[in-house]
Amino acid sequence: MKITVLTLFPEMFSDFLHTSIIGRSLDRGLAEVEFVQIRDFAHDNYKHVDDSPFGGGAGMVMKPQPVLDALYSVKTEQSYTLLMSPAGEPFSQKKAHEFAGKDHLIFLCGHYEGLDYRINSHVDECVSIGDYVLTGGELPAMVIMDSVIRLLRGSITAGSTEEESHENGLLEYPQYTQPADYNGDRVPDVLLSGNHAKIREWRILQSLLITREKRPDLFAKHELTKEEKKILDKYEKEQNG
Ligand code: SAM
Repeated sequence: MKITVLTLFPEMFSDFLHTSIIGRSLDRGLAEVEFVQIRDFAHDNYKHVDDSPFGGGAGMVMKPQPVLDALYSVKTEQSYTLLMSPAGEPFSQKKAHEFAGKDHLIFLCGHYEGLDYRINSHVDECVSIGDYVLTGGELPAMVIMDSVIRLLRGSITAGSTEEESHENGLLEYPQYTQPADYNGDRVPDVLLSGNHAKIREWRILQSLLITREKRPDLFAKHELTKEEKKILDKYEKEQNG
């Protein structure tokens, strides 16, 4: 996969691209990341990329010309362009899988008060990473790149993404490691039992209970499988005596 980031601040990405799983994935050639400095496309001597908003108001708005010239310098038939915007579609694990299937992702990072609205019609999607406002699109681009790159085959151990939170619409069950007893706080006995069927049942139940408690919105949307329904019914019966 090829990733192009259009930004005024490429230096923000350097540690991120060279650290841990993302660094290793790029070293292995799973993705290639390039940067385009939007300011290089400004025409005036002072390399202005922004101007005050028509109609008045605080802050500066990024102008269409340098941004779109930068975009069309890299965009091809294979490209899929994402504009980082707090007004975009909410990012999700489902979208991470969709984006992981693209040949060429372009991230367009706004700054200041944002981008001239006419730019929106030149991108494939506007994406938000949450209901809050950041100073620029660089952190959102890194968030999305991180979740996409770790899904590429060969990035992390095969199978380790499958049971994670949000993969099947539920949150993940609790995980534990050594020691089995930490200052009297013990790991649930079932995980030490070696009984794989019982461990699986416990994990499914915990995933359902945690999602129901912490994210009732996700639980309400989730369609229980036959197995999940059976496990939950059994638990409810035990709880009710
Ligand atoms: N004036 C804009 C508004 O009210 O929607 C906010 C602009 S924000 C200060 C500057 C840039 O940061 C945006 O153009 C966008 O690229 C990025 N940004 C900020 N928050 C974001 C979020 N939650 N998701 C994605 N991008 C975001």
